[in-house]
Amino acid sequence: MDLSRFPRQRYTEFATPIHPMPRFSAALAASCPGGVGPEVWIKRDDMLGLFPGGNKTRKLEFLVADALAAGADTLVTCGAPQSNHCRITLAAAVKEGLKCRFILEERVPNSYDPQASGNNFMFRLLGVEKITVVPGGSNVAEAMQREADELAAAGRRGYVIPGGGSNAIGGLGYVACAQEMQQQFFEQGLRFDRVIVGSGSSGTHGGLVAGFLGNNIDIPIIGIGVSRDPADQQPLVIREAQAIADLLRAKFTVRPEDVICVGGYWQPKYSVPNAMMIEAVQMLARTEAILLDPVYTGKIMAGLIGLARQGHFKRQEKLLFVHTGGLPSLHVYEDVVLGANSK
Ligand SMILES: *Cc1c(COP(=O)(O)O)cnc(C)c1O
Repeated sequence: MDLSRFPRQRYTEFATPIHPMPRFSAALAASCPGGVGPEVWIKRDDMLGLFPGGNKTRKLEFLVADALAAGADTLVTCGAPQSNHCRITLAAAVKEGLKCRFILEERVPNSYDPQASGNNFMFRLLGVEKITVVPGGSNVAEAMQREADELAAAGRRGYVIPGGGSNAIGGLGYVACAQEMQQQFFEQGLRFDRVIVGSGSSGTHGGLVAGFLGNNIDIPIIGIGVSRDPADQQPLVIREAQAIADLLRAKFTVRPEDVICVGGYWQPKYSVPNAMMIEAVQMLARTEAILLDPVYTGKIMAGLIGLARQGHFKRQEKLLFVHTGGLPSLHVYEDVVLGANSK
């Protein structure tokens, strides 16, 4: 797949590391049937640029390049009150000398607190131009368009980036990641049996699926849902992967069997903690000193742990967990994440 005809702003100067997690793998195996578990490795997309970066950094390399080519002076995007995507979009805007405006959707009623720490604090520190808070279930696309119209009326030019940066252009970031991984597998002589990744607005999962199919990387990808169970999530990912493939003028069709979705780990609700997430965050911190976040990667790792304990993986299968970032929101959930040990 040829990404070179798409403009790209580089925000990371290196390939994010892939490394084993021997202490975590040993602790996990000890809690698996027969004391045998998978060998778990990690792809450090929490080390991406626009630090503290994450998966949105990769999507924004292509989205911001497109915005600049369109002559935009302002990025308009949307997310939840602790959105990593909004914070990283703002960071890219600052770096490019653009302004940035958000529509924040209160998916959990009254969850927006202008004084909150984490990403919310960084919105203010990085100098967001305007935040509009709307209730959960609002038409957010319409609200972003209104913002762009208002900018146009003032002689400015807004560029609307959808939630999570997940459209065909943003998804190119994870096709680039697939190619980066392929090169690393080759150079480091690595062979994985499966890749485990989060599945939310679907650009990450969909981009990897399109990139793996288009580059003949024959490794199944398991997408752990952070907000939907498979019946709702799988169609979104198929549509996203196909849109990316079509933009790249690839000739293949994404089939349902290419998109594996797992549910059951995000409940009771998007961004609301559960016990499995807390265990996963503590376990990775205390075995590998790697920090997960409570909204996304904690629940995604809980999915990996849960599947391993159910005996889903073959004996000592080699897994690659994609760490998609999210560090700042850990601070908003400090007491929750420390759990019973917080006293
Ligand atoms: C946005 C996000 C995800 C989900 O990725 P999508 O591309 O929206 O599916 C996972 N992890 C973190 C930390 C995120 O910020």
